[in-house]
Amino acid sequence: MKTKTSRTQGSRYYPKRYDADPATRDAILDEGLVCHVAFNIDNQPFIIPTSYCRVDNTLYLHGSVGSHFFMQMAKGIPVCVTVTLVDGLVLARSVFHHSMNYRSVVAFGKTRMVEDEQERWLAAEKFAEHIMPGRWADARQPDKSEMKKTMFVAVEIEEASVKFRAHGVMDDDEDLQLDVWAGVLPLRLSPLTPQPDEAGKSGLPLPEYVREYRR
Ligand SMILES: Cc1cc2nc3c(=O)[nH]c(=O)nc-3n(C[C@H](O)[C@H](O)[C@H](O)COP(=O)(O)OP(=O)(O)OC[C@H]3O[C@@H](n4cnc5c(N)ncnc54)[C@H](O)[C@@H]3O)c2cc1C
Repeated sequence: MKTKTSRTQGSRYYPKRYDADPATRDAILDEGLVCHVAFNIDNQPFIIPTSYCRVDNTLYLHGSVGSHFFMQMAKGIPVCVTVTLVDGLVLARSVFHHSMNYRSVVAFGKTRMVEDEQERWLAAEKFAEHIMPGRWADARQPDKSEMKKTMFVAVEIEEASVKFRAHGVMDDDEDLQLDVWAGVLPLRLSPLTPQPDEAGKSGLPLPEYVREYRR
């Protein structure tokens, strides 16, 4: 990974909100499910939401070989990839100080179409395991034609920044005596009751990794 440039240098206000530890970056990337990939096509900026997975310093994206976004990325273009986790709503006494607790990564890199067969299969496995650990061994794995229809794009992270907010309400002193409830409402992605697909065999036991799913 390159040294920090102005692209990822925190500028104003809260330098303490930036975390330079790569382990924090990786923990956020491993907890997130959806990233937003920003790039330019003929001076038109695009930001596309898509799933991803991480292997060391590389992010993998996958899509149809027919997707014009993926065909662009296959050319090897500079991208910015962001992942955001919202951890809570910060309800201050003044509207001005309302906020969110969050953890986010902004990463820069260049895309590369994955051509090596072994790396493509690694990416396919990591995608399944990133979304649902334990699934790769259980689900029918991709056959040759499915792999042929899928493009994997790698983004080697050149540099990244992590920003977060993880504290309470920051009201001004003059507002503290207002009759307004203030505090933080923590938020978390949590599973609801699994809904079995009725199209196939009925009565199959619910896998433990689904029952115990936590993110
Ligand atoms: C949670 C999530 C996960 C996804 N995971 C994947 C993935 O793993 N792989 C994958 O290929 N795609 C994924 N997608 C879909 C992805 O966002 C794009 O729709 C897809 O990659 C588009 O490819 P395309 O080149 O065919 O674009 P086209 O559909 O041809 O795009 C044409 C236009 O459609 C609009 N558009 C495209 N996508 C979206 C969108 N998501 N929301 C609103 N407008 C849109 C834009 O205006 C765009 O310019 C995911 C989307 C979401 C929300």
